[in-house]
Amino acid sequence: MNNYLEKVLTDVKNKNSHEIEYIQAVDEVLSTLEPVINKHPEYEKIALLERMVEPERIISFRVPYINDEGQTIVHRGYRVQYSSLIGPYKGGLRFHPSVNQSIMKFLGFEQIFKNALTGLPIGGGKGGSDFDPKGKSDGEIMRFCQSFMTELQRHIGQDVDVPAGDIGVGEREIGYLFGQFKRIRDAYEGGVLTGKGLSYGGSLARKEATGFGLIYFMREMLIANGNQSLKGKTVTISGAGNVAIYACQKAQEYGANVVAMSDSKGCIYDPNGIDLDLIKQIKEVERGRIFEYKNKHPEAQYFECTGEDSPIWNIKTDIALPCATQNEVNLNSAKKLVENGVIAVGEGANMPCTKEATEYFLEHNVLVAPAKAANAGGVATSAIEMSQNSMRYYFTFEEVDKKLNDIMVNIFKSCQDAAEHYNLGNNYVAGANIAAFRKLAKAMKAQGIV
Ligand code: NDP
Repeated sequence: MNNYLEKVLTDVKNKNSHEIEYIQAVDEVLSTLEPVINKHPEYEKIALLERMVEPERIISFRVPYINDEGQTIVHRGYRVQYSSLIGPYKGGLRFHPSVNQSIMKFLGFEQIFKNALTGLPIGGGKGGSDFDPKGKSDGEIMRFCQSFMTELQRHIGQDVDVPAGDIGVGEREIGYLFGQFKRIRDAYEGGVLTGKGLSYGGSLARKEATGFGLIYFMREMLIANGNQSLKGKTVTISGAGNVAIYACQKAQEYGANVVAMSDSKGCIYDPNGIDLDLIKQIKEVERGRIFEYKNKHPEAQYFECTGEDSPIWNIKTDIALPCATQNEVNLNSAKKLVENGVIAVGEGANMPCTKEATEYFLEHNVLVAPAKAANAGGVATSAIEMSQNSMRYYFTFEEVDKKLNDIMVNIFKSCQDAAEHYNLGNNYVAGANIAAFRKLAKAMKAQGIV
């Protein structure tokens, strides 16, 4: 790393020493930028990197609500308005007990790069709460969402900051949040939240977008590396949430054999091919656990997740798609996957591979589709939802899906071009970071010292 990059990274580590995930995300990006920074010594004078690693604003707030037993519970809410360089802050809300400032900042930081890659006018932000929606009644979820929005509403708007869903925040939660926003602001401002239900301003294909987009990116990456297709490939997918389910659907449509999916408690292995309708029934309708899959398919195997190493990565596969959460693929898992002959890894979740795992894959010629690029289809389609809301118009499913496909093809091309330009071969991890950074740096230079 050159001196300037080293200095910025050291500062970030010193100033945020307790924010492990945030440091990891910054380290991952800075460690790929050397060729660009070497070409632009003028960036140091205008503190371009220092500005990029400091969020514009962090909002933290109290979220009290009353549970079904009549007890008042207090949670902490966040919104990190990371960067408005290229558009209104845009990024999801996560409700999960692990949520803290470090996780919000890492997600916000990654979001600005991801959003830049989409080519659409959206800045970066992220928010959420340490509230756990699991096991809560609809009434509790509604009261929590209303309380959360009562505070958040003063900070957002369709031209200011546009939240969406993430882990633990799906269509149900977005509905309650939107209802409360409208009630307080006394105006229908459809573009203030994305991931809305279809009956009140949502976009067709938004639900499918991140998973479908991941597979479109994977398709392009395979073609660019020897004309392979997904047909006949064995695929394992961690998670059984929004991203995982629709990645599975598109992979199956392309003729892949998806043999395993998981949730936070364990994974199911069905060599005959995952029965996706059943997964949807268990996870989307009944909000149950993945081990219930065995009730209908007793021939499938269930492996409980007991430690840090998820059992899903021990299963032999051609393509691994981590679609659950950050740091779910560590070095041990990476070694196991390589030993079992994996050819490509597609990051559906944000930062699912540790830095060591990613490096191990690249060293062993495993293709890596990095999250910032490969899962950008969700936010890109959110931006398409915003456009439809502004136009007071709806596109058909096919129209949105076609736009999504074109965007993913372009994102892959940007990563490929940047990697080639700097002689980095098929290192799309570096390619994605560089392509996004160049766009952000240009916008930052153009807007002066702010
Ligand atoms: P969901 O809440 O719909 O699903 C998350 C899935 O991951 C669930 O199956 C959940 O299991 C599992 N999971 C969550 N936390 C953990 C954990 N700590 N350990 C193991 N498994 C876990 O979330 P999404 O599908 O929306 O998001 C998944 C990932 O994709 C996240 O990293 C998110 O940031 C990223 N992403 C999402 C986008 C979107 O459009 N939704 C867009 C871009 C990125 P369980 O049911 O047991 O909790």
